Amino acid sequence: MAKHTGPVCKLCRREGTKLFLKGDRCYSQQCAVEKRPTAPGQHGAARKKATAYSVQLREKQKAKRAYGLMEKQFHSYYVKASKMRGVTGENMLILIERRLDNVIYRMGIGSSRAQSRQIVNHGHITVNGETVNIPSYLIKAGDTIAIKETKKEKAFFEELKRAKIANLPKWLSFEPSELKGKIESIPAREDIDLTIAENMIVELYSK
Ligand code: SF4
Repeated sequence: MAKHTGPVCKLCRREGTKLFLKGDRCYSQQCAVEKRPTAPGQHGAARKKATAYSVQLREKQKAKRAYGLMEKQFHSYYVKASKMRGVTGENMLILIERRLDNVIYRMGIGSSRAQSRQIVNHGHITVNGETVNIPSYLIKAGDTIAIKETKKEKAFFEELKRAKIANLPKWLSFEPSELKGKIESIPAREDIDLTIAENMIVELYSK
């Protein structure tokens, strides 16, 4: 899959909000949004008149960048959600939230979604005892997520065993000492702590 290879802090500055793309640095005073809260570029600080389209576009870019998805894949979640019962925008976000790389991030195994994706890609994760190396794999309620038995001795995971996991969403459980967690339920919209106006993304795509 293609991926963004430029400086990721510029993405946060462009969206005017923290997207938490760099792990621990995002919680420090080194965060670029804290230091320079303007859009990047020569005219970044200039005020621009927002149009309905530009507001919708920014919401879409914000969500896409926060989850580290490219346009085609992000749009495919909209298409899938629009065929489901219920509110399309909410369904779209919930589908993305259910991705295995996001779950690894939410459990605190990876410090960013990019790192979590790499952990999945490298075959370190099992779902219900089977190795899954597909970051877009959609988890279900009741699934057991664990670090693969043969990888547990790696220094990274040894350190994780002693970690205190903060801000674990209520739809997940994770026991660091066992390197094992569970999907307690499918997340609801209110469990997703991203300030995204998903209805605007739906308006943009449904034009
Ligand atoms: Fe965004 Fe993190 Fe960079 Fe801050 S440190 S600008 S939150 S990626």
